[in-house]
Amino acid sequence: MSDSVSLSLLARPPVCRPEISGLPRYNAGLSEDEVRRRYGLKNIVKLGSNENPYGPSPHVIAGWAASGARLGRYPDAAAAALRHDIARVNGLASDRVLVGNGSEQIIRLIAEAYLSPGERVVTVRPAFGLHEIYPRMMGAEVDAVPINLDATFDLAALHTAVKQPTKILMFANPSNPVGCMMSGIALQDLIDACPSHTLIVVDEAYREYAEEDSDYPDARAILEKQSRPWVILRTFSKAYALAALRIGYALTSCVDVAMVLDTVRDPFNTNMPAQVAARAALADDAYMKDCIRKTVSERKRVADALNALGLFVAPTWTNFVFVRVPVRSDLLATDLLKRGIIIKPWKEKGFENWVRISIGLPNENDTVLKAIADLVLS
Ligand SMILES: *Cc1c(COP(=O)(O)O)cnc(C)c1O
Repeated sequence: MSDSVSLSLLARPPVCRPEISGLPRYNAGLSEDEVRRRYGLKNIVKLGSNENPYGPSPHVIAGWAASGARLGRYPDAAAAALRHDIARVNGLASDRVLVGNGSEQIIRLIAEAYLSPGERVVTVRPAFGLHEIYPRMMGAEVDAVPINLDATFDLAALHTAVKQPTKILMFANPSNPVGCMMSGIALQDLIDACPSHTLIVVDEAYREYAEEDSDYPDARAILEKQSRPWVILRTFSKAYALAALRIGYALTSCVDVAMVLDTVRDPFNTNMPAQVAARAALADDAYMKDCIRKTVSERKRVADALNALGLFVAPTWTNFVFVRVPVRSDLLATDLLKRGIIIKPWKEKGFENWVRISIGLPNENDTVLKAIADLVLS
């Protein structure tokens, strides 16, 4: 033991790339077990990661469990059956579909494949952390355009930002963490304002929730009508309730984009049980839609209750609410943690008074609403 300590004191750390030393760490939040251990609690209400609280469909669980006997074999490296199913559901050729170990891996592949030091990425702020972290890891400059005070996309500022050389425009629609939605007309105008070579990446992690609204744009139809390259990102982690299995996918503008991303991915980047479960999940749309319906109805109830406490809730098309609170968000989050409630406080400059709360089961939502009423009104 003491030997290893003295050895590690002598060891000089190897020099990493300069991009890495200043890179912010992704804030994945605390696990339920960690909160239990830290605060000596039994029951945890986990509303920090935008998961589907109803869990996967019974068909998915059955199919996944039956895959256990084949765990000794490598997965299909090409994930051919799943890509085929995704292609069929979306009406395009499967050589334009790529699957990843979560869509977060595909964000990384895009950065690794397309970004060289000094190139510019335009995104929004606040944003999904990895939209900024992976480009910066590759040495790209990230121009993150702040949202408006009323928690909508600042379209004028985005237009100005994409007037400069822009290698990638990447953002989530609807947004995480804000929840706001960009309309079809706004999306089309923004794409048209981009330089002719810009890679447009639209992250649709929450599309299944937004689709409830007929105004949610068909990004693919808009992108297909122009010539810039594009990637649409989707995930099985949110509405399909497969977050633990790590599986997501990309639809691409052409075979070439899919092939470039395929070249930089790990050969076995998605595992067999995840491929099996994702196929079963796609086949059980009715279950997913039922979860969406329940979550959207709870979302309205939660937003109304927070409004009634005098808090501003950003209009949302997702399975979470982004709320402005009258205290520092990290302090409120810590007070909630002590009661076994996990939410996500925002820490970026300008947004230190905002928290993101995922919509849970009705009783979980009651618990967080009551705790916030206690803490904020006291
Ligand atoms: C949750 C989320 C993802 C990541 O999804 P995984 O498929 O679990 O990696 C990607 N983008 C956004 C905007 C998200 O909120």
